[in-house]
Amino acid sequence: MTGWLTSKGVLDVAERSGSFASETPGGGGTFTREIVEVDYQYAEELILRERANEAQEFVTRVCVVATDERVAVFASVSASNLGTKIAPRSTSARCPAVLREMIRLHRDWEIDGAQIPSGRPRTFTGPEGGAEVCKIILSGQRKFPLILVSEDDDEFVWDGLDKKLASDLVGLGYVSTVDSDAAWEISSRLGRRAACFDGAVRIYWPNIGTSLDQLVSTVWTLERMLDAPANTNAEDRFREQLRQRVMAASALSITEPAEIGSVFRAQTRKRLAELQGNASMIDGVYEIANSLADDLDKANRRITDLETELSVEKTRAENAEVQLGYAGQTPAANDATSADSEEHAVEDEEGGQGDIQAGQAVFYKKVSSTPNFDIMRRRGDCGHNSWESAHAADKAWKGVERLELRKDWRSFLHCSRCKGGGVWKVTF
Ligand SMILES: [Zn+2]
Repeated sequence: MTGWLTSKGVLDVAERSGSFASETPGGGGTFTREIVEVDYQYAEELILRERANEAQEFVTRVCVVATDERVAVFASVSASNLGTKIAPRSTSARCPAVLREMIRLHRDWEIDGAQIPSGRPRTFTGPEGGAEVCKIILSGQRKFPLILVSEDDDEFVWDGLDKKLASDLVGLGYVSTVDSDAAWEISSRLGRRAACFDGAVRIYWPNIGTSLDQLVSTVWTLERMLDAPANTNAEDRFREQLRQRVMAASALSITEPAEIGSVFRAQTRKRLAELQGNASMIDGVYEIANSLADDLDKANRRITDLETELSVEKTRAENAEVQLGYAGQTPAANDATSADSEEHAVEDEEGGQGDIQAGQAVFYKKVSSTPNFDIMRRRGDCGHNSWESAHAADKAWKGVERLELRKDWRSFLHCSRCKGGGVWKVTF
């Protein structure tokens, strides 16, 4: 914890509260740290508040408690609003570095007897590999989500995607890869509803039972992953969606270990007992009473926050239900029965093109074509970095010219990895 504070730029780590500067201008933050040692038990709480953007701050709380039975760590990340503007809040939570380090240094952490995800992917190949994955998927013992990354033509949608996802989800989800033979085996054993192939990524949530009907999963097909609104990067966007999904689920599933509260309370009781019958120590009693009142305030605020979270989750669940109704009408490969409406909301994509700065790269996709030109639309970066110059792309050139009403671009490149209509990168 001390190392983490140092890495954040805190100069005096012995202080119980303070502030630090940030790499990003206008950022920085504050921390409070509380350490308790009572009856050979140790508890520590560290809360970090960092400016996320003009409207929000990130609050990271990490608690460590050591009793003679076990060492437990509990961490939460949340964003709290600094103002009262009503607008969609976009926050991107990440695993706190201190947790990553704790997991790296000690490989034997577990939750409820289950080893926690290490941050490294596992590989399953061939029909035997596929059969083993099926066993893991259907096991009633699994405590963590399993994220399966499939191959498309022997490669992942983006290079190293398996390793990146495993690192993103360290401590939260197992990440495994399947080659096409393993993917085929999974499809034939579990059916299309639970299949994962052709570059798709699927989350298999832990089961309530061991039957296939009870299996809940969420899939991103290759097309859905590569889709990105203008001015975004498809890979970043996808990783963020996945993190968001798994983190939100864990926030509602994991509760704080009881020891944390009990060690802090034990210390308060001990101090009160010491003060008992000693009238001259009345100041100390007041101090404790005040801190208890503060704790109560904090608890009440937490209840309000949780109530808000709950209502947001309820709305999400309702949206998902509506979406399910539509899903039946558009069956696709890797059946996307739990597609998210909010993730399909694509803003700022249709006509009305904004100004393009000199030197700016703009990405396009072909949405349709006529005999003479393609109908192009702006989109985000597919994230491949496999750009090739297109020598005979008259129809695409004309399409961009019609859309932007200019043709003074400096380069006009085509992605060699995107299929279908493809993705174009035009630098003006
Ligand atoms: Zn591409």
